[in-house]
Amino acid sequence: MDDIDDFTEETDAFDAATARLTVDLAALCDNWADMAERSGSARAGAVVKADAYGLGIEDCGGALYAAGARDFFVATPDEGASLRPYAPDARIYVLSGIWPGTEATFFGNDLVPVIASEEQLAFFMALSAELGDYPCAIQVDTGFNRLGLSVDEAMMLADDASRPSSFSPVLVMSHLACGDDPANPMNRKQLESFRAVSAAFEGVESSLSSSAGVFHGPDFHFDLTRPGIALYGGEAVSGVANPMRPVATAEARILTIRHAKAGETVSYGAAHTLTRDSRLAVVAAGYADGYLRAGSGAGVPLRTTGIPGQMAFVAGHHVPLLGRITMDMSIFDVTDVPETAVRAGDYVELFGSNIALDDVARAAGTIGYEVLTSLGLRHERRYLF
Ligand SMILES: *Cc1c(COP(=O)(O)O)cnc(C)c1O
Repeated sequence: MDDIDDFTEETDAFDAATARLTVDLAALCDNWADMAERSGSARAGAVVKADAYGLGIEDCGGALYAAGARDFFVATPDEGASLRPYAPDARIYVLSGIWPGTEATFFGNDLVPVIASEEQLAFFMALSAELGDYPCAIQVDTGFNRLGLSVDEAMMLADDASRPSSFSPVLVMSHLACGDDPANPMNRKQLESFRAVSAAFEGVESSLSSSAGVFHGPDFHFDLTRPGIALYGGEAVSGVANPMRPVATAEARILTIRHAKAGETVSYGAAHTLTRDSRLAVVAAGYADGYLRAGSGAGVPLRTTGIPGQMAFVAGHHVPLLGRITMDMSIFDVTDVPETAVRAGDYVELFGSNIALDDVARAAGTIGYEVLTSLGLRHERRYLF
């Protein structure tokens, strides 16, 4: 009976988890403070769209609010509604704008639409004639060709004496297409266009820069910056050392360690042939956990581009992935890790402080943003303060 009692005793879900994700909220807040400082005289907002880049809008939004953020950006009105209780008096901007049927969510949660097109503008103008002074932001397209009024349309709007006096934009904004590449002339081109728009909307705050633009210096800061990925520890600018603290750590358990002989093959497609007798750690994370299959070695054309293959970290060692990533499992070569140092049941780090998120992304031919937003919900999560 004693044994059964022991066995059924409540175990901490995090310590029992097959795969787990740690979100370091202190690091998140440090990263926000860092971006606020780099933003100089501009205020730093916080972009928490897509469930705070997959890390949890409620916990991340609440922590950022406690750290001092008061300007939040989400993609959809529903995301804004989820954030509202955690950021009570903050301004919450909805980047996809407003369309018929979403009014109740906007007004019920005090969300600010970012007007994304001429149609949205007409719809909101008509609404605001009824509503009185309800804030909105104007998105201006300075070269991205995604959302926003054209520069000409925005200039006309700024000068339009006939617009209802109740129509009261609080922010005019644009988005850089090549922010991650500081040398790209596109940045200056967009800056010049946006300066004209910003000047035309006198007395209205302006915002141009996501994380990357914050690194381009004061010209790019205007009144409000919109960092996202940098808050979550990801790389905003390519080709330079990432100064942000890692926020997310993904770990998964070794389900078994098997011995295999030189000449045998590993995983689907028998695409990897062992060149030596090996110890293989079968780890409980696969593409259903956002450990992207494109990060597999053999069979992926990327591997011919010289980008290093996917690695995990265990017992002080970086260990290479072997063969294809499967839905629920991945296989790592632990032959070089002393046999006593690594056992079934141990956790390996997939990314975190020893394996950079962006290295995992590069090995899969993508960006840290996609790795984070692909994580899914199978991990057990823990938030550190
Ligand atoms: C996603 C987004 C951001 C944040 O971008 P990061 O590169 O994650 O900092 C800022 N502004 C707009 C309009 C966005 O869509």
